[in-house]
Amino acid sequence: TQQTILVTGGAGYIGSHGVLALQQAGFDVLIYDNLSYGHRELVQSLGVELVVGHTGDRQKLDQLFATRDIAAVMHFAAFIAVGESVQKPDIYYQNNVVGTLTLLEAMLAADIKKFVFSSTCAVYGMPKEIPMTESHPIDPLSPYAASKRMVEQILADFDQAYGLKSVIFRYFNASGADPQGRLGEDHNPETHLIPLALLTALKKRPQLAIFGTDYDTPDGTALRDYIHVCDLAIAHALGLQYLLEGGESNIFNLGNGNGFSVRQVIEVAKTVTGLDIPYQLCPRRPGDAPILVGSSAKAKHVLGWNPQYPDLHTIIDHAWRWHQKRHGD
Ligand code: UDP
Repeated sequence: TQQTILVTGGAGYIGSHGVLALQQAGFDVLIYDNLSYGHRELVQSLGVELVVGHTGDRQKLDQLFATRDIAAVMHFAAFIAVGESVQKPDIYYQNNVVGTLTLLEAMLAADIKKFVFSSTCAVYGMPKEIPMTESHPIDPLSPYAASKRMVEQILADFDQAYGLKSVIFRYFNASGADPQGRLGEDHNPETHLIPLALLTALKKRPQLAIFGTDYDTPDGTALRDYIHVCDLAIAHALGLQYLLEGGESNIFNLGNGNGFSVRQVIEVAKTVTGLDIPYQLCPRRPGDAPILVGSSAKAKHVLGWNPQYPDLHTIIDHAWRWHQKRHGD
């Protein structure tokens, strides 16, 4: 019989693309999401069964694991706003760490020992070398990043003690959307550059803020590594296959390997939309690194990952298709 993969946070931006990639790879998927930030419409457009629940709800998880044949868990559910995590660290540690710990305990009780985890390049802190590899020193600078790092530590210890095998993915800037326009990025509040630029083009916002124009970069604005969410999602399906084939616990960066500046993103967004994107020059955003660019050579080598959409124009074009459908008049 076909085994089921439980996807937490499958009603969210990256999680829903993960579900699509799993379906395309032939897996049977069950979404577990409390819909605090996820969208029921995304689940409906995927045609996947949804269990509404919190990762910290041990009873609900025990019940689920007792009634379904779950082969592995892919864990996307988390709070993600760096600034908010500084203001409210308690809810970040509660949701991202305690919630995940409860999920892992329920898995162990049900003898489910394969786990794919969404981590972040923010665990590295300020870059000491570019591109950053998985062996870059760890120095989380926010409660959000610390919460991800703590789970990474828990996973290392749980492998040692209980043989729970995990693949940890450290994401650079997830962006873009399903090229067919079925899924996309819809955060509330939105803090990410590409969707904000497109919402400004659509006149849903008066103007865009450029945070920092005095960085030591070619045009003075910060460089980021924008990775297409579908490429990210396919890496998850490969990571899962790797675990199901008996792979050892492992950690992989997922990035594009290319840095693009804030100004470059705005220029490409103008070209893609054919619309004006007014912007204001603003001071640096606290905690932002000047340059974040990752090496994903390890994921390519070990998992055979081969990103399809490394081009920024394509990434923004796909995001635009979704935004026009979602917000266009
Ligand atoms: N950024 C910006 N204006 C915005 C949002 C973001 O200039 O309204 C910049 C931000 O300072 C960073 C880059 O765009 O250099 C990407 O930011 P985002 O929040 O999308 O992702 P992050 O790199 O912080 O995870």
